[in-house]
Order: sequence, then structure tokens, then C-alpha cells
Amino acid sequence: MAVIGVRTALGEDVFTLSDHVIRALCRALESYRDPEDRGNCTKCGGRHLDENLHCRDCGQLHGILGQVIAEHARRVAASDEGAS
Ligand SMILES: [Zn+2]
Repeated sequence: MAVIGVRTALGEDVFTLSDHVIRALCRALESYRDPEDRGNCTKCGGRHLDENLHCRDCGQLHGILGQVIAEHARRVAASDEGAS
């Protein structure tokens, strides 16, 4: 048995939960992932990646789109060097 107190702006209440519910709740919390949490920037370690996995701190792009853009930028840079 466990007792959980919840307090919000509208008021507060206390719930008694059975062991079965507590175990289920713990499992749910374990597998929970914050959709806003997009991990750390691989370049500066910042935690401010926007929905496009673009780091607001250093500008690094992550994920498939970031790799494609970085690859394209390298090719453009390489062809520029070759042309001059
Ligand atoms: Zn960064």
C-alpha cells in the first residue's frame, strides 16, 4: 500500500494505491520518455535542441536531416576547393 498526495492550483487530495497499482505506476514511469527531451547536443553538450534537432546554443544539427545537411555542406566545400 502507498499513499500519494497530489496538489494542484485547484486543490489537493490524497490517494491510497494498492501494491499492484504502485508496481504498474513504477513500470510506467520507468518507460516514460519526455517528448520534449531530445537529448544532448553532441557538439556542445547543451540540452536546447529544437523540434528539428537543431542546437540553439551552438547551431549544430542532429539526426538524419543534420547528417544530410552536414554531408551536403562538406561536398559543397570540397567542390569549391576543387574549382579554385
Ligand atoms: Zn550545441
